[in-house]
Amino acid sequence: TTTSSATFLPVLERIAEEISHTPGHGRPADYIPALASRDPRSFGMAVAEPDGTVYGVGDWREPFSAQSITKVFTLALDLAREGDELWEHVGREPSGNPFNSLVQLEYENGIPRNPFINAGALVVTDRLQTRTGDAAGELLDFLRAESGNPDLDFDTEVAASETAHGDRNAALAHFMASYGNIDNDIPVLLDQYFRQCSIAASCADLALATGFLARHGVRADGSRLLSRSQAKQVNAIMLTCGTYDAAGNFAYRVGLPGKSGVGGGIIAVVPGRCTLCVWSPGLDERGNSVAGVAALDRFTTLTGLSIF
Ligand code: GLN
Repeated sequence: TTTSSATFLPVLERIAEEISHTPGHGRPADYIPALASRDPRSFGMAVAEPDGTVYGVGDWREPFSAQSITKVFTLALDLAREGDELWEHVGREPSGNPFNSLVQLEYENGIPRNPFINAGALVVTDRLQTRTGDAAGELLDFLRAESGNPDLDFDTEVAASETAHGDRNAALAHFMASYGNIDNDIPVLLDQYFRQCSIAASCADLALATGFLARHGVRADGSRLLSRSQAKQVNAIMLTCGTYDAAGNFAYRVGLPGKSGVGGGIIAVVPGRCTLCVWSPGLDERGNSVAGVAALDRFTTLTGLSIF
C-alpha cells in the first residue's frame, strides 16, 4: 500500500533507479539449484513503518528464500522463552569466519561464537525445538502473524535440496553434540533447520516481520515478545554478527543492525523509526547480496538515518 505516510518512497525510487544502472550484481548462491536459478538482476526493497504501513519498489512483493534471515526470528522466539540461559550455549562475539565454518568450535568447547552463523543457529533451533516440539512451525506461525500474510510457507523443494546437500550443517550439529551442546536427535534438528531456511517470503513480508525490533520488542498486535533490553540486545548482535565475516564493513557502510541470507535478502532496523528489507540474489564472496548492501548504504546516506 502506498499511503501518505510512505515517507521514504521517493528515496527507494531513487535507489532502485541507481541500482538498475550499476553493473556487477554478484552471483546467486549455487550450493543448491533452486537458489542458483534466480535472476541476479532481480531487485526489490521495502520499508515498514512501526504502524504496519509497508511500501516498496521493484520486486518487493516477490517471494525469495529467506535462509539465514530466519536466524533473527528463531533467536527472538527462543530468547523470549528461555531468557539468558541461552547464552550458556551460544556466544555473542563476531566470528570473523565464514557462516558455515567449523574451526572455532573445537577451541571453544562446542559453544558457537554467535547465533547468526550456522553453528549458532543450529543451537538456537535445537533449544527452540526442545521447548516447542516444532521450532520451524513456531517460526512460520510468527512470520505469518507479523507479516499479516497467511500464505507464507516452507519451500519443500529448497528444504529437500538443503537436506541433499547438508553434509556441512550435519557435521556442525554432530560436532556440537559431541560436546553435549545439542539436545535433539540430529536428523530431527536438521529437518527443522532446513525447513526454517527454506521459508519463502517477500521484502514486504520480512520488513513487516522485523517490525518488533523497531518497536523495542512489541509485536504487530501490541503484545510484547521481548523486553526493551532484549530487543536492544538482538539489534546489537545483528550489527556485530548479522553479515558474517563482513559485519564490520556492513556497519561501516550501512550503520544499522542487519541480517543477510544466501537467498540474497537483507533485513535492517532503524530502532524506533522503521525496518527495511532488500532483495537481490547476486552475492559477494562472503554470502551477502551485493546490490542489497549497496542499496542500504545509499538509504542511510540519503536519509541520514543510522544508529550513529
Ligand atoms: N541454508 C544455508 C545454510 O545452512 C543458510 C546459510 C545462509 O543463508 N547464510 O548453509
